[in-house]
Amino acid sequence: MRPFSYESASDTASAVRLIAARGGSKFLAGGTNLVDLMREEIERPELVIDVRGLPTGGISASADGGLTIGAAATNTAVANDRFVRERYPLIAQAILSGASGQIRNMATVGGNLLQRTRCSYFYDLASRCNKRAPRAGCDALEGFNRYHAILGASEHCIAVHPSDLCVALAALDTTVRAVGPNGERAIPFEELHRLPGDTPQIETALSADELITAVQVARLDCARRSVYRKIRDRSSYAFALVSVAAVLETSDGVVTTARLALGGVAHKPWRASRAEQVLLGAPATSETFGRAAEAELAAAVGRKDNAFKIELAKRAIVDALEELASIGGAR
Ligand code: SF4
Repeated sequence: MRPFSYESASDTASAVRLIAARGGSKFLAGGTNLVDLMREEIERPELVIDVRGLPTGGISASADGGLTIGAAATNTAVANDRFVRERYPLIAQAILSGASGQIRNMATVGGNLLQRTRCSYFYDLASRCNKRAPRAGCDALEGFNRYHAILGASEHCIAVHPSDLCVALAALDTTVRAVGPNGERAIPFEELHRLPGDTPQIETALSADELITAVQVARLDCARRSVYRKIRDRSSYAFALVSVAAVLETSDGVVTTARLALGGVAHKPWRASRAEQVLLGAPATSETFGRAAEAELAAAVGRKDNAFKIELAKRAIVDALEELASIGGAR
């Protein structure tokens, strides 16, 4: 690891001032991803600004009945929060399906949103990687790509976003609040993460001097009945091959609300809009769920080691929706 300077920010304004004043600086929260990247010298900040002590760790019901999660809240605190567990169980399930207890105790929500891909070639400095070194090439294209993208990829990068929490947030109406030198702004969650295109090194809509302060989730009463389903190579401490976050509301056997997002399949949490269009107003049956899954995966592209994920994703969608339909009945 290269030598670096360390500052602890006392408030949000000073954190932003510090990073604006020193190019090449990084915010540090739980450090569960950044420190690994620094050890491997993939990230080489000259200054690390510790934001873990900022007063942005609260978890509360919003005035409209939604949810506000401070960026410094730990994953454990969010997963254990009673309001989250009752109103948005898919969020708690997603968090608990990821990492280990020790990591969840350290990792923060802000850091979770900004964690970087776990593509093994990205972490291997001897490999070609456009994300780490733009225009260097991508060894994953013809390499071992079992864990790589089947949707929204480009010939420049086929990495996937590693977060489970983000998949749950993508299925909901979520807004990210950030503050930078030009003030505060709200970013719709679907605009936070990017597809790789020809600039896979640019992963989010945030600039380097912006700090995430909170995540706001709109009220969605039917999210009480929601599920996060994760399929992985090991039963714990493994990233998703495919994951599904789903909310389903029905009335008289017809789908009235459907929210679906997929993880482990794309460079960003993948909102399954095509599937939602098929589901809305259709009978809540396995046949409908299958058609929705087919519609969503119609554009999927499999490679040497990951083509199986196309069928896996379809089955995971159907399985999650069948579970919700069976426990929900007409509601
Ligand atoms: Fe790098 Fe993306 Fe290729 Fe992985 S898939 S080696 S992150 S460019």
